[in-house]
Amino acid sequence: MRDQNFLLPDFKPEPYWWDHAPPTLLNSDEGEMPNRCDVVVVGSGYAGLHAAIVLARAGIDVVVMDAEVLGYGASSRNGGMVSGGVNVGKHIDLKPAQEQAMLAEASLSYRWFEDFIQTERIDADYQRTGRFVGAHCSDAWQLLVKRMVKLNEVADSSAYMVPAAQTRDEIGSDYYKGGMVLERSGAVHPGKLHLGVLNVARNAGVKLFGNVRAGAIARSKDGLRLETSRGPLIAEKIIVATNGYTGELSNWHQRRLVPIASYQLATEELGSELITQLFPKHRMIADTKRLLYYFRPSPDRKRLLFGGRARYLRHDPIAGVLLLRRKLTAVFPQLAEVKLSHGWWGYVAYLRGGVPDMGESQPETLPGVYHALGCHGSGVVMMSWLGYRTGLLVSGQTNSQSAFSEGGMTPFPLYLKKPWFLPAVGAYYQLRDWVDRQRDGDFSK
Ligand SMILES: Cc1cc2nc3c(=O)[nH]c(=O)nc-3n(C[C@H](O)[C@H](O)[C@H](O)COP(=O)(O)OP(=O)(O)OC[C@H]3O[C@@H](n4cnc5c(N)ncnc54)[C@H](O)[C@@H]3O)c2cc1C
Repeated sequence: MRDQNFLLPDFKPEPYWWDHAPPTLLNSDEGEMPNRCDVVVVGSGYAGLHAAIVLARAGIDVVVMDAEVLGYGASSRNGGMVSGGVNVGKHIDLKPAQEQAMLAEASLSYRWFEDFIQTERIDADYQRTGRFVGAHCSDAWQLLVKRMVKLNEVADSSAYMVPAAQTRDEIGSDYYKGGMVLERSGAVHPGKLHLGVLNVARNAGVKLFGNVRAGAIARSKDGLRLETSRGPLIAEKIIVATNGYTGELSNWHQRRLVPIASYQLATEELGSELITQLFPKHRMIADTKRLLYYFRPSPDRKRLLFGGRARYLRHDPIAGVLLLRRKLTAVFPQLAEVKLSHGWWGYVAYLRGGVPDMGESQPETLPGVYHALGCHGSGVVMMSWLGYRTGLLVSGQTNSQSAFSEGGMTPFPLYLKKPWFLPAVGAYYQLRDWVDRQRDGDFSK
């Protein structure tokens, strides 16, 4: 219970970002929902909106619906750390040609993302801050060296290594054993970004409906029939852009995607001087652990925002962030008495193939249903890009195939609805991360 004293009296169990881009603003319900359109997009996050923008600009009649207020999912809850592929295929062995193609496309997606923000004049506090990836043990530092070479060769990442002795140039902590800097990466305010993309979609003529839950999809004589909480909707094509929130919308997608909760906290205002001691270069920071920590200064450089895994099945923002706070103070012992202003969580989505996937889901049995799914925790740029590419594919504006459409959607064995195995997998990864650090003679977490 002592931990509860670390919550400020006006602590909010919701995203810090919602203070500036609240979901009421994100909500937009544009009149009567039609019962017919060309394309329905289910999910109003970055992926769904970018797909819809491409379609609407091609003169296609497109409806976007979300079961909650628009932008309710990860797109208004994330850490706002952006890059061009640093995490693609990080913990899996991809075939070299496949990895090369994915990294090259991820690099392209970052350029596209920056262009989009600039061209559409989206005010999302975007800055090219660079990112520091802290090595949690000396073996991890060696692996980062190989990763750095690849990222520079294929993804144009402007990456370089930081030796252990110079860690403090990047972070006011001795927790990491050096690491890697990626200069070609940055930070956004994710809520403002979502709001900006939502406005672009509205101006492009996309019909937007919050609080409409999509249900079963079936073929009918008129096209695809989507059941919704406001009655059936007939469309030629449907795009599933529900990521970690997919739930029971479609059994086929649900069995191929595991939702995992990521928790985040915001501290009380620490002042810009302390923030600069903790983040000497004001970079985004993540690490090499299997259960990674990711953290950053707030865009106004007054607070620290810290994220990671906390709870797997029974979600609770307060219990989750109090656990996360202990991890924060393991990295920054000087914050032992820090209080929290916000705590929240959201779902990311994992696929069995270890990388995101887009394309036509079941071309033989249910043609016309497409997806862009599986962010693997890094989707601000990637899910926006895959949404955009799905829009191009569905509107017939591209012949080229994305490196992320190689049919990576295979079902997980023994998994139907509830990811019952997550607590065991989480405990195993936590143990392995701890053993890694012990080998270096470090007994902290
Ligand atoms: C806490 C957290 C931190 C993260 N940090 C980062 C980061 O720093 N950098 C980074 O690159 N990525 C990060 N991510 C990942 C990134 O936020 C996601 O990859 C991205 O936002 C996914 O966008 P999306 O459009 O695919 O899905 P979402 O934004 O999750 O949208 C899916 C939407 O589908 C809706 N939906 C679900 N089912 C239905 C239905 N049946 N009917 C209608 N609507 C439905 C949901 O309500 C939801 O709004 C983070 C994610 C989380 C949760």
